[in-house]
Amino acid sequence: MSHTLQRGRYMRRTLVAACAVLLPLAAAAQVSARAPQQPRVWTHADTLRGSYNTPDRNWWDVTFYDLHVAISPADSSIRGYNAITYRVLRPAAEMQIDLMTPLIVDSMIQDHRALRFRRDSNAFFVSLLAPQHIGRHYSITVYYHGHPRVAVNPPWQGGFSWTHDSLGRPWIATTDQGMGASVWWPNKDTQADEPDSQRIALTVPDPLIDVSNGRLRSTKHHPDGTTTYEWFDANPINNYAIAVAAGHYAHYSETYNGIKGKLTMDYWPLDYDTAAAHRQWVQARSMMQCFEHWFGPYPWYEDGYKLIEVPNTGMEHQSAVSYGNWFQNGYRKRGSGLGLQWDFIIVHESAHEWFGNNITAKDQADMWLHEGFANYAEALYTECQFGKEPAAEWEMGKRRGVANREPLIAPYGVNAEPPGDQYNKGGLLLHTIRQVVDNDEKWRAVLTGLNRTFWHQTVTTYQVENYISKASGIDLGKVFDQYLRTTMIPEFDYHLSGDTLAFRWSNVVRGFGMPIKVTLDWPEFTMIHPTEAWQRLPLHVANPADFKVDPNFYVDVKEVEP
Ligand SMILES: [Zn+2]
Repeated sequence: MSHTLQRGRYMRRTLVAACAVLLPLAAAAQVSARAPQQPRVWTHADTLRGSYNTPDRNWWDVTFYDLHVAISPADSSIRGYNAITYRVLRPAAEMQIDLMTPLIVDSMIQDHRALRFRRDSNAFFVSLLAPQHIGRHYSITVYYHGHPRVAVNPPWQGGFSWTHDSLGRPWIATTDQGMGASVWWPNKDTQADEPDSQRIALTVPDPLIDVSNGRLRSTKHHPDGTTTYEWFDANPINNYAIAVAAGHYAHYSETYNGIKGKLTMDYWPLDYDTAAAHRQWVQARSMMQCFEHWFGPYPWYEDGYKLIEVPNTGMEHQSAVSYGNWFQNGYRKRGSGLGLQWDFIIVHESAHEWFGNNITAKDQADMWLHEGFANYAEALYTECQFGKEPAAEWEMGKRRGVANREPLIAPYGVNAEPPGDQYNKGGLLLHTIRQVVDNDEKWRAVLTGLNRTFWHQTVTTYQVENYISKASGIDLGKVFDQYLRTTMIPEFDYHLSGDTLAFRWSNVVRGFGMPIKVTLDWPEFTMIHPTEAWQRLPLHVANPADFKVDPNFYVDVKEVEP
């Protein structure tokens, strides 16, 4: 998801970010001046939604969702079913299926038999009749209908958006990251379990066209003046990536010669925005070129890449990136410096195809794996277009947008939303680690290796940080602990005395020993290895004012008395 201005002192379960790229400085200052956050009280419903290793969830592995939904803008209602195919991992007789109020389950059917179920808020517990044999596949079909929650502030507070385009024609979209896909369709609502593939068959009134994930398999017109658009996503997909986009769309496409061969790139602007799309959306090609270089092959050649115009700012819907950035560079006319030279939504949301969709955090608490990496991808795209040094300087400007009021990793098991710092601070952490690795080809191998190692998988932060340490050959455990699990920014304390530099780390976790570059031999930067204990090294600077710490490390620097 993309950034927004943070409003109010505390927004429950709303993904918001304070971003230097987007915020004017005055607003950024307000971020740090706000009152301390009130502790969140977690509810039974949060645990039902946010825990995946529970008795009613952990015995079955979703393999296929077969989703069929008829959408009625006339009365803002939906009706349909989802046939859930799963593999049994261990014997059980009860399963949890999620569907949010006020939607109503009509029936749950397995082997032509109606099953009994009880509702606990947004979770349903269904009693199975047939024995569930380990390793076998079964299917359960959930029929449902109702008026799904209307999105209050999409994409951050999501649900259904029943809007109109500028000609007054219906324009419908869904957004549900964070909130959960069960806001409009029944599923196992956790990021930890993805189907191997999914059908999305959506029926909309003529002449609306629905564009969803994967490839369009068929369109079927019905006598009642509706059409079913059958989309098929051939790869594992996180449930919040499944989306409706129904409107008066135009369509054009091109073929991109990528790392894995020919990739179809399909574009779906509203009909009257076709010329603007042809002008602005060429950046999808430069995005693809840059990110395949840095992250490895686009993860969904079978499903293609799509850009779809929507009535919200945009979302990283898998193989169907949604776009609402007014066909302009920057972020809805905001941004700063080089950030005004490219289209924020194309770059940021598409970066999630690698970090977010290819590699998905099992628990929302680890969402910095999506947003921190997508934020960092902005710097890499800037580097691809404008060169390494200008991009690094632009990236470090994000420091002003970090609030540092809460650690990046939120509580596990309750679908907790990490703070907005997961964007900028996550990006700054990765930019800093690149400096520590100090070898661009090795760093690129780390990023491509991540996407290869965790290809189409759901992961934890520990898996990712262990991989980065191993692939870089540097134990970064304390670095991750410092930046992800505390709000402390490492302080590089130093003192110059003649030809001697005294230095140490303070404000750090115990054992923190991140190397850092300083002008030991001016004007060259040399890597040194501070610890919490004072160390001394010979210094060669003509003038004490020439002593510099490499500004690409996200640290505070302080000259102190010894
Ligand atoms: Zn994002």
